[in-house]
Amino acid sequence: VFVCLEGGEGSGKSTQARLLADWLAERGLTAVLTREPGDTPVGAELRRIVLSPETGALAHRTEALLYAADKAEHVETVVLPALERDEVVVTDRYVDSTLAYQGAGRDLDVSEVEAVARWATRGLRPHLTVVLDLDPAQGHARFEGRDRIEGEPLEFFVRVRQAFLDMAAADPEHYLVVDARAEREAIAAQVRARLEPLLEP
Ligand code: C5P
Repeated sequence: VFVCLEGGEGSGKSTQARLLADWLAERGLTAVLTREPGDTPVGAELRRIVLSPETGALAHRTEALLYAADKAEHVETVVLPALERDEVVVTDRYVDSTLAYQGAGRDLDVSEVEAVARWATRGLRPHLTVVLDLDPAQGHARFEGRDRIEGEPLEFFVRVRQAFLDMAAADPEHYLVVDARAEREAIAAQVRARLEPLLEP
């Protein structure tokens, strides 16, 4: 089973990913907690390049391709091997982040960005994507300027948020949208309830 957590900065998705992986482990399942960008040796280099303020401006297509390279390495060396071992993979960000940030955020053609990202990931899609939804004005204030992307204007993050919500609305069977302002444990409970049926043998 392949689960993805998505959301903007400050939405708490990393915390929820960890809580979910802990819960899976308590149930006796082997859970692999991973993230994009950066959870492979090459990915760590790519993460440094795309996120370091020292990199400065990057052509938007360059940025999209670097994220795609990170995904290809991630899927090939972490996600697919774990799924083949029948483990549960919980990833903090995946293709939807690219569609939201490099597509909607950067104003690249979303279908072109998607074609590249699907190719990079062999078309592998999560069984469930949890969108932790937060008004970017709330998330953003805490993070502004911390990395290369977080210095973008608020409008960028408004487009990113809308992109996540639109993807979820278009495919409710594979998405759960949760209000990220809710209490941490309440959010975790919603995620578990939605995932539980997918874990049945
Ligand atoms: O999730 P995390 O905080 O580690 O993400 C790091 C940064 O990478 C964030 O600023 C996020 O906006 C950015 N990012 C991006 N495009 C992606 C994935 C992440 O701009 N496809």
